[in-house]
Amino acid sequence: MSADSTRAARPRYPATWDDAAPSGSSSAARPRSNPSLAEGGKPTLPRSQGVYRQTKVQPVVPTGQGMDSQAVRDRMVERLRAIGGMEPIVLHAMLTVPRHVFLEPGLAAQAYLDNALPIGHGQTISKPSVVARCASVLLQSLGAKPERVLEIGTGCGYQAAVLSHVAGEVYSIERIRALHELARRNLRALRLPNLRLLLGDGTDGAVTGAPFDAVLSAAACTEVPASWLAQLRPGGVLLAPVGQPQRLMAYRKTATAKVDSWCVEDAHFVPLKSGVL
Ligand code: SAH
Repeated sequence: MSADSTRAARPRYPATWDDAAPSGSSSAARPRSNPSLAEGGKPTLPRSQGVYRQTKVQPVVPTGQGMDSQAVRDRMVERLRAIGGMEPIVLHAMLTVPRHVFLEPGLAAQAYLDNALPIGHGQTISKPSVVARCASVLLQSLGAKPERVLEIGTGCGYQAAVLSHVAGEVYSIERIRALHELARRNLRALRLPNLRLLLGDGTDGAVTGAPFDAVLSAAACTEVPASWLAQLRPGGVLLAPVGQPQRLMAYRKTATAKVDSWCVEDAHFVPLKSGVL
């Protein structure tokens, strides 16, 4: 099926998402954790759970003091610029997205240091330099702004928010329901209508939304799941931490479905796990 015909078959949004797995169920016990709408028309579960929705919440208003100050974000971005190799549009996104909003209050003072920090459930928010690097590598590898990106591993939603400033549409999938809901709460005030949050096992990618120009995994796998490459359009790029020791690997799907790969750098990501909790 061509990319165009696949896109033509996609449902209009907001779409629904089947996320009613019982707590702790595995993907094997949950055959429709990541359903294809092509399989059976409309999924039946509550619309509110599969899609990020805009609500009337006041945006964060910088006061010029403390962690909500634009000045602390400016300094973080200057440090990222000094690292080199970052795309200007990505740096602008890092300047725009308030990272402290994604952290619990006790950690907010560290929000603009280059640290991975705990977000609960044994998971972490990625370092700003890693988020900026991954987004920059994607853009550089594609040579253009991606129309549609899939992020595997929403976590608290920070990287998804950054990606939403550099891509046409972003889908982000998370396997831990509590984090999926945390991300939804964190993102509400930022009003990002091109960002869609999904609950499911991202090992299967996300049939809704495919084909993607880019897939970015925030969780490390031992082998790249076939679905991630299958859901890339020809010419699309996948970026994922792979192997032990971990390497951030890039893969480009060619027009003949051959895959070119190269190593970007060493990596330290949390592991990709299966099932939905
Ligand atoms: N994107 C986040 C990083 C979150 S850490 C940020 O903005 O900083 C990686 C996330 O991947 C964790 O929340 C973890 O629960 C999630 N994850 C691991 N395996 C997954 C899978 N199979 N499907 C979806 N999410 C997964």
